[in-house]
Amino acid sequence: MNAGPGAEQPRIVVIGAGPTGLGAAYRLRELGYTNFVMLESRNKVGGLAASETSANGFIYDIGGHVLFSHYEYFDKLFDTLLGDEYQLLLRESWVWMCDRFLPYPFQNNIKYLPKEVVYECLMGVIEAQKQPLDMSKFRNFEELILGVFGKGIAKHFMTPYNFKVWAHPASLMNKEWIGERVSVVDIARVLGNVVLDRDDAGWGPNSTFKYPRHGGTGGLFERMRPYVNDQLRLGASVVGVDADAKEVVLEDGTREPYDMLLSTMPLDLLVSSMKGTVPDEVRCQASRLRHSGSYIIGVGLRQPTPSNKCWMYFPEDNAPFYRVTYLSNYSPEVVPDATTHYSLLAEVSHSEFKPVDRGRVIEDTIQGMVNTRLLSERDRADIVDTHVIEREHTYPTPSVERDAALGVLHPWLESRDIYSRGRFGAWRYEVGNMDHSVAQGVEWVNRVLQDDVANELTYLAKRGC
Ligand SMILES: Cc1cc2nc3c(=O)[nH]c(=O)nc-3n(C[C@H](O)[C@H](O)[C@H](O)COP(=O)(O)OP(=O)(O)OC[C@H]3O[C@@H](n4cnc5c(N)ncnc54)[C@H](O)[C@@H]3O)c2cc1C
Repeated sequence: MNAGPGAEQPRIVVIGAGPTGLGAAYRLRELGYTNFVMLESRNKVGGLAASETSANGFIYDIGGHVLFSHYEYFDKLFDTLLGDEYQLLLRESWVWMCDRFLPYPFQNNIKYLPKEVVYECLMGVIEAQKQPLDMSKFRNFEELILGVFGKGIAKHFMTPYNFKVWAHPASLMNKEWIGERVSVVDIARVLGNVVLDRDDAGWGPNSTFKYPRHGGTGGLFERMRPYVNDQLRLGASVVGVDADAKEVVLEDGTREPYDMLLSTMPLDLLVSSMKGTVPDEVRCQASRLRHSGSYIIGVGLRQPTPSNKCWMYFPEDNAPFYRVTYLSNYSPEVVPDATTHYSLLAEVSHSEFKPVDRGRVIEDTIQGMVNTRLLSERDRADIVDTHVIEREHTYPTPSVERDAALGVLHPWLESRDIYSRGRFGAWRYEVGNMDHSVAQGVEWVNRVLQDDVANELTYLAKRGC
């Protein structure tokens, strides 16, 4: 389809004004395209990458958001939106275990652990690596953990930590999502670090990262709003899609006709909301998708920050959270006065496999912070703010049946001119970060307006993972 300036523009409806919807809308406007509307159920943009301000003036993100861009387009967008109003931060991440912090990644820094644990971890790696590494033989994430990291690291870190994050057993997860996200084991490095007493924190793509100075992570996406405001409708909740009539049904009963629909709402909910003819197989595959939800707990203290750490992982069961971020170390603007206040952001996942008591989540989080010595009992008196953000869809589980399900769902939707993109639209965690999501929106526009099919690479997980 060629819908350049002057050509008649087909009507596009975008569901959701998170990074994917915003990326698409920004690109549409950049190409001079105006015949579209973006429907967002909440009263602000940003989706899971938005931020909230508590009653006491603390700003919290929906979990620790570390920006690492794989895209020149995203880098330029960031510069256009923020100029120099960002903080450049050094990645500083830690694992709390056995009553101490060790630098991340865990496997390269086991020398910090008690000797018996070091021994168990080393023996496990050596045993696992007796066989040449053949990733194709692992049927799921659990087998990969054991086969790559060995029994010791599996027992002490990988298994408990991943269950805390994903709220799913590793045996139900595939191994394809891993990409660059999990640092695999270099046995010479692991052994060398123990024997030579070497520190080793230099892993991964994000050794520095940028963070908006104002408004938290959401501050970045708020700044996209002026570019898309003419087509944006906030408080517009989609309750159904009529694929036969090619109409989106809103909560107030009104309908929005479309020629093409870009949906960034969760794919399982999109399909279950569909009216008209939907094959049983499509409904069945959508119901097989797995996800987890989160409670994000912000805690504000009337104290200067006690640490220069960024974020910390917590694999043990002495705290409900898997990660805590010193959010006020990212920007002084997220607390009322950074000389006298700081903030912590804890992430607690939940699912059918890992129920969490909402009524206790604040107290359990604070107790977990005391158990892991982030706070002392005395610090409780200086807590001046607590704030909980709840989201039902936060992690699209890369389950073993996911790719087969997506192989049915996306082609059928596209045959009806419905394109499901983004973290929960595509349902591919490995391309579900902020930069990937913006890119999914941009690349979709390039595809449908410029016949650039080959370049929708991010959504296909062929780039950036
Ligand atoms: C705990 C956590 C930690 C993260 N950490 C990082 C990180 O470190 N780095 C990173 O790059 N990314 C991170 N992310 C991912 C980042 O938040 C996502 O990449 C991004 O928000 C996905 O954008 P999206 O537009 O695809 O989806 P979303 O952000 O989910 O946006 C979808 C939008 O659609 C709207 N919507 C849904 N249903 C409807 C409906 N029926 N009608 C109308 N509107 C609807 C929603 O309100 C939402 O605004 C993290 C996410 C989470 C949850």
